[in-house]
Amino acid sequence: MPQHKLQVEAIAHGTVIDHIPAGMGIRILKFFQLSDQDHPITVGLNLRSKHQGKKDIIKVEDTVFDVTQANQLALFAKDATINVIDNYEVVEKYRVTLPDAIDSVLACPNSNCISNEEPVNTKFHISESASGVVLKCHYCEKSFNQRLFNELN
Ligand SMILES: [Zn+2]
Repeated sequence: MPQHKLQVEAIAHGTVIDHIPAGMGIRILKFFQLSDQDHPITVGLNLRSKHQGKKDIIKVEDTVFDVTQANQLALFAKDATINVIDNYEVVEKYRVTLPDAIDSVLACPNSNCISNEEPVNTKFHISESASGVVLKCHYCEKSFNQRLFNELN
């Protein structure tokens, strides 16, 4: 059996996040607090990939991400693929797409922003520019490069 099959199909039920750029797997785990939940998680780092050279992979058992959750991963891993596994079979497979907005997950880096003072859910509008992904705060309307969030988290 080819290696990639084994890597993807090793869990009975759950979600496999594949094609994460090497180095981003740990960040995604921390950022989405995946390891704070009760589900068994397997992480593969620096796995060999035909297309990416090296990649990370995260397997979360007994959990299926909804598309909104999955697309938040695109902030960190724009080429990630989501494999939904049921009874050791891939029953659904799709690539994440960058969402138009991201709610509640990120804190605004602007310390004067009202979202850091008031009990509101943060919200950022997402767009892509030549220099990368840009997030614009819904409240203070400041724009931040996505790389800044990677450094903060
Ligand atoms: Zn703000």
